[in-house]
Amino acid sequence: MLFVAVLVAAVTANPTIPEAARAMYNPKLFQGDIKGIAGQEPGDPIPDDKAEILYALSGPRFTGFSQKERAAILGDQYLWSGGVVPYVLGSSVTSTQETVILQGMADFHSKTCIRFVPRTTEANYIEIITNDSGCWSYVGSIGGMQQLSLDTNGCIYVGTVIHELMHAIGFYHEHCRNDRDDYVTIYYEYVIDGYAYAFDKDTYWRYVGENYNYFSIMHYGTYAFSANWGVDATIVPTDPNIVLTEAYDKYEMAQSDANQINNLYGC
Ligand SMILES: [Zn+2]
Repeated sequence: MLFVAVLVAAVTANPTIPEAARAMYNPKLFQGDIKGIAGQEPGDPIPDDKAEILYALSGPRFTGFSQKERAAILGDQYLWSGGVVPYVLGSSVTSTQETVILQGMADFHSKTCIRFVPRTTEANYIEIITNDSGCWSYVGSIGGMQQLSLDTNGCIYVGTVIHELMHAIGFYHEHCRNDRDDYVTIYYEYVIDGYAYAFDKDTYWRYVGENYNYFSIMHYGTYAFSANWGVDATIVPTDPNIVLTEAYDKYEMAQSDANQINNLYGC
């Protein structure tokens, strides 16, 4: 009987996805935490001029932007002018949360030319909110006010703040780089049904001077979108000595992240 009981326990074990990871894997958002893409509206046709397409097609499972090109890096018109990103904090943001948010911004200020500044009258700016579901951002400057969500439940981590802010200034996910197959193996058989699109590679891409980096703040962890968290790895490095971690387990951007930011923004 004891043997049977143990066996049943093993079969029914269903490791829980940590709240901080679940908050970044929102089922209705592109790759889990991208709310939208600068210059793209849901249903927009693919531009005819392929030379203008810097970015990859996303997978068919994502209905919002499924027929659109996906950026490795956004076109210049969707960058923040002068690298200055005005922001406001939503009314839900507590002083404790503000401290974490400012820590994330400080990482940009110490390593890059990006400057997050409290908004005065700027037309284009970010509103950071903590009372929506999940961690998410738009990619690039979409024009006007754009929100960036750091859910009180699961997103108040310096690494998550940096990750979402890096989306906001125009970056996508490292593990979706076109050259990622040289560095990781994606185990689709372990990916939650319906989420395979989250691992689509960039098809049209533009990178800014840095090679693939396992430790990028834009790289997901080894159990990303795993149906069996903590057991079945979905992203496995070709180098067995590498341990992939989630953004929330990181405390600063990688130097390669900073270099790409500075290259993209010309500073
Ligand atoms: Zn992300």
